[in-house]
Amino acid sequence: MITRSTPQVQAIATDIHTAPHRDWKSQLAGAVRDPLELCRLLGLSDEWQAGALAGDALFKVRVPHAYLSRIERGNPDDPLLRQVLPIQRETDSVAGFVSDPLEEADHQPLPGLIHKYGNRVLLITSGACAINCRYCFRRHYPYADNTPSQHALDDILHYLNERPHINEVILSGGDPLASSDKRLEQMAERLTALDSITRLRIHTRLPVVIPDRIDEHLLGWLAPLNVHKVMVLHINHAQEIDDHVIAACQRLREAGVMLLNQSVLLRGVNDSVAALARLSERLMDAQVLPYYLHVLDPVAGAAHFDISDREAVALVEQLRKQLSGFLMPRLVREIPGEVSKTPLY
Ligand code: SF4
Repeated sequence: MITRSTPQVQAIATDIHTAPHRDWKSQLAGAVRDPLELCRLLGLSDEWQAGALAGDALFKVRVPHAYLSRIERGNPDDPLLRQVLPIQRETDSVAGFVSDPLEEADHQPLPGLIHKYGNRVLLITSGACAINCRYCFRRHYPYADNTPSQHALDDILHYLNERPHINEVILSGGDPLASSDKRLEQMAERLTALDSITRLRIHTRLPVVIPDRIDEHLLGWLAPLNVHKVMVLHINHAQEIDDHVIAACQRLREAGVMLLNQSVLLRGVNDSVAALARLSERLMDAQVLPYYLHVLDPVAGAAHFDISDREAVALVEQLRKQLSGFLMPRLVREIPGEVSKTPLY
């Protein structure tokens, strides 16, 4: 079980949880977007400010207060802070770290549609995220050109209709749950009306960063869908899972949604056997199964998070000795051009 209730954390959390209830859209709109305000709210010394501004110029800061409340004030090594605070090293140019590390541009038959693997396609549902994760492999992705309009969705449905071997649609982004429920409902209804589509998968970080996103409006269109519903959460550290996240997961399970988690192995965040074991145990508390542990995709600006494959395999070998088999995530790398993720262990 994690210990996350330092006095500092409690101070910020108390402000938030005694505040009048705000719906998820207000929380999204009220996310911290100013790097200097982020430093101030978290009690960081002035030395962090120049790096925060330099990193923000490359990829904007965005942190909702509900996530901020889980960060220990005054601790620049906090594993959640490291995921969201821009630093000077993001400006380093490092060989092999590029803007499109997965070469997704080569697998887009239509704007907003990525078709890399035989039976499934990925839809860039929204270019927005509730949080901007500094290691994101899509931090340079041209969302403006690739978020499907209603008209583009017609073309995507036509593409799927002509390829009945595709049985799974993945809503991704950005974060698909940053879209309105009305838009998501219309999209999900049209996609799942195709006989060939038997699974709808949603890749999202929103239930973790703003658990109030899992409200009656979302569950109102998601629960009745007559396909297998899978949600792949993105949680990298046990400290991200508080009681609000656990309650959101419960609401999703009650709506018939299978919950899985994928993490990214990040230097300074979760690169120890103890941190990874705690994460799996805490996922169990939320009844979410660990699915993938990704090594970092080599995206420009994130090289300081990188861990070699050799180190990653050594960590997972040790982790296996501590966890039940079903709590072990699969260590994988995504290699452009491969027909599936590549297991490393
Ligand atoms: S797409 Fe996912 S990993 Fe990337 S910034 Fe958004 S929430 Fe974070």
